[in-house]
Amino acid sequence: LGAVSQMQVALAALQRVNDIVFLDEEDAGDAAISRNLPLRVPTAQSEALIEFRSVRFAYASGTQALQDVSFSIIKGTRNAIVGPSGAGKSTILALAERFYEIDSGAILYSGNDIRSMPRASVRSNLGYVEQEATSVSGTIADNLRLGNPNLSDLELMGALDAVGLDDVVHRSSEGLQSRVGDDGVMLSGGQRQRLAWARVLLGNAELLLLDEPTSSVDAVTEEILQNLLASQTPSRTVLVVAHRLSTVVNSDQIIVVEDGRTTASGTHDELLLSSEIYRELAVRQLVA
Ligand code: ADP
Ligand code: MG
Repeated sequence: LGAVSQMQVALAALQRVNDIVFLDEEDAGDAAISRNLPLRVPTAQSEALIEFRSVRFAYASGTQALQDVSFSIIKGTRNAIVGPSGAGKSTILALAERFYEIDSGAILYSGNDIRSMPRASVRSNLGYVEQEATSVSGTIADNLRLGNPNLSDLELMGALDAVGLDDVVHRSSEGLQSRVGDDGVMLSGGQRQRLAWARVLLGNAELLLLDEPTSSVDAVTEEILQNLLASQTPSRTVLVVAHRLSTVVNSDQIIVVEDGRTTASGTHDELLLSSEIYRELAVRQLVA
């Protein structure tokens, strides 16, 4: 597994540490047994890579973030989550990574209950770009080699080129060995987001969870990243929380979340007909 994902997880965990329920693997196994959770649940759609079934979740602060969330993501497809700000979109991704334990319902990976799976195995297959992307301190190369220390400089440059970040490296005399962060090159929010994209592209995670992954970039970069995103399926499954209509329209499935509930799902054309809130969001170009 990717040290990449582990590092990303660690970083995100630092930001959310107050709410995280730490369960070690044994606890998780015991919990599964004592709650009599099936270790393997037959699914109607056996090709579902991840499935949420009537998931309810409240943060420790008491905020009921999710009331009733259900959806199913088919392997190799491109999926988008849309909904107003505060609807619960980021929470859904956090739960898919098992940052928190759900209160009721179930989350299944290929039919396996997430509560029966060690965190490391849940995350080993995930690539994650956060809404507020963080970079690790160290060099640019360090940031990109987290998942795979054997990547060549050429491969790193290829990924930086793909996300339009190669100029940062070329402008600095230390190149890939430039330090980033407080003691080095200060990266903007958009540059950190692109660095996270490069990291995901270099990894081989099967499922990409992307939380508004173009929220901090300009229109030109947005288009570059859109094309990259489109090129990821069908070898990888994509679930992207989107704030721009251009990210959403070509999805195989769009999931609408309102006030902690999934209220509709379908393609763009289907939802324009069936979902009032989707129509409203689409007209406003989805920007929450
Ligand atoms: P979205 O990503 O759709 O904007 P979120 O999933 O971030 O929505 O938030 C859903 C609800 O949960 C909101 O009411 C938000 O204020 C609350 N929330 C989000 N993160 C936390 C947290 N770490 N602690 C407590 N409440 C949170
Ligand atoms: Mg969010």
